[in-house]
Amino acid sequence: MTMIHSGPTLVSPPDNLTVPQFLLDGLYTHVTHPQRMASTPCLIDDETGQRTFLEELRDRTRSIATAVNFHWNIGEGDIATLISPNHIDYGPCVWAVHRLGGIAATLGPMLTSGELVHHFQIAMPSIIFVHSECLPSVLQATAVVGVHSDRIIIIDTVGSSSPAGFKNLDGLINEAGSLPEFKERVLAEGEARNTIAFLAPSSGTTGTQKVVAISHYNVISIVVQSATFNRINEPYAPLADRRFRPGDLCLGFLPLYHIYGGVFNLHFMIYAGLTLVLTPKFNFEKFLANIERYRITHLTLVPPQAVLLCKHPIVKRYDLSSVRYCIVAAAPLSATLTQELLQVLPNVQLGQGYGLTETCGTVGMFPLTQKVGTLGSGGQLLPGTFAKVVKPDGTLAKESEAGELYIKGGQVALGYYDNEKATQETFIGGWLKTGDQVFFRDKDIFVIERIKELIKVKGLQVAPAELEGHLLTHPSVVDAAVVGIPDEYSGELPMAFIVLQPELAAAVEKNTLFAGEIRSSIFKHVQDVKSKHKWLTGGIQFTESIPRNPSGKILRRLLRPKIDSVKTTI
Ligand code: AMP
Repeated sequence: MTMIHSGPTLVSPPDNLTVPQFLLDGLYTHVTHPQRMASTPCLIDDETGQRTFLEELRDRTRSIATAVNFHWNIGEGDIATLISPNHIDYGPCVWAVHRLGGIAATLGPMLTSGELVHHFQIAMPSIIFVHSECLPSVLQATAVVGVHSDRIIIIDTVGSSSPAGFKNLDGLINEAGSLPEFKERVLAEGEARNTIAFLAPSSGTTGTQKVVAISHYNVISIVVQSATFNRINEPYAPLADRRFRPGDLCLGFLPLYHIYGGVFNLHFMIYAGLTLVLTPKFNFEKFLANIERYRITHLTLVPPQAVLLCKHPIVKRYDLSSVRYCIVAAAPLSATLTQELLQVLPNVQLGQGYGLTETCGTVGMFPLTQKVGTLGSGGQLLPGTFAKVVKPDGTLAKESEAGELYIKGGQVALGYYDNEKATQETFIGGWLKTGDQVFFRDKDIFVIERIKELIKVKGLQVAPAELEGHLLTHPSVVDAAVVGIPDEYSGELPMAFIVLQPELAAAVEKNTLFAGEIRSSIFKHVQDVKSKHKWLTGGIQFTESIPRNPSGKILRRLLRPKIDSVKTTI
């Protein structure tokens, strides 16, 4: 019996198209492209009510490409960074860069200037699309790395209200009609496989944040794989059997800079003929009101929203009966919570998806044949996806045996941008080492735990190494280790073990008041320069030493049992 697991077979996705040619121009005719109803917009901006139809998306994309090419001569391999909350022109900016042969690097709007500098130093942008809300931190960061402010484009403000001294997107789009048209990047057969489309942040299995290099083919492949899995490119399938139908609406609050929102919501939903209702930030009451207002049919959630749906009393005030499909991904959803969620959404097809930024978002989903995904399962392999489970002794696990999951398939990214060492450690002979401990049972993937260092807070990544490095710059700290502690709402919270300077440790021992002061100072040290989800909300615990192996690697498993039962939060 082979111990390589595989999803259903897949008709090869095209490898000679860029993402916008595939998504907007409908150049992929090998399998039937789902029909978008003429009356359905691709996007609705919840804040302004603006609706954008496919043709307009295409036009805006082309206009941005024309102007960006004219002013900054963006071309092959140039990086355009996007720093913005969800915005209706997010997609057009990305696809314009693709049409020019450039790379779109997407970063979270909450990043502090120090975090932005880290990313700019890995992937230096030629231009930056910025939401005006993020402008102050972006300007601080560009001043450090030396990107001139005339390379910043404000994406949200119209005409005269745009922050002075910067070009803005609407201005560029208006100007485009009088400019020479750009030359579209055309890919030869096979070229989409190695041409980078996106750079997306991830810390992988170890170390600080890196950026994952995602090819045009990766994005096109995951869309086709997800479509095939859900049979949405077989329009003859009875409507009632179809999970995704043209005309359906999905709520788009997941951040577009993260692979889940950026690829599954934005690219897959548009391909599937759905309308994405974009909201810039998550607000639970607004979320419920929007389901009712737009008669939302599809929800793509992370576990904290599932917790709110199950526990929050205001849920009862809203009519959620329009929802037909709900997927929860990016972190585990327990069997108990799944059952509770079914009480709230009894008629909904409900299950999990499992994946990573390094797999362009998805490895598995709950299959079409199930109304409710197998409890506790992260789903089943997508078509064209292969998996093996490697036990600690290096042999392959059998059914139900635990080990580390490795993945192969069209969705597996190219590697980490400009980081050969991390690429070689994680992308091994065509297989992606996921850092997740899993077992397979009857095709279902059960994620047991994360063996990699990564902590996930509300589905967002926190790299312990990044916080540990920063904690060591605090004058009282001689050593530090950060672990995730379980939290019902956020999934995990970052918690730090700290070894203090010896004289301080002795003083802390005698005086709890002093201990509180030091904790506050360490908490603030992180709070001042890191995004909110990285703050040490799991607590700070003093310890005599951090357990390490002979090569200096922190032995996190030995730390977990040392966590005091009383949380030592600030
Ligand atoms: P990211 O690259 O931010 O999407 O994080 C990927 C990691 O999130 C995976 O390697 C898993 O550790 C975790 N993850 C994603 N989906 C699930 C799921 N359904 N169940 C358990 N863990 C998950």
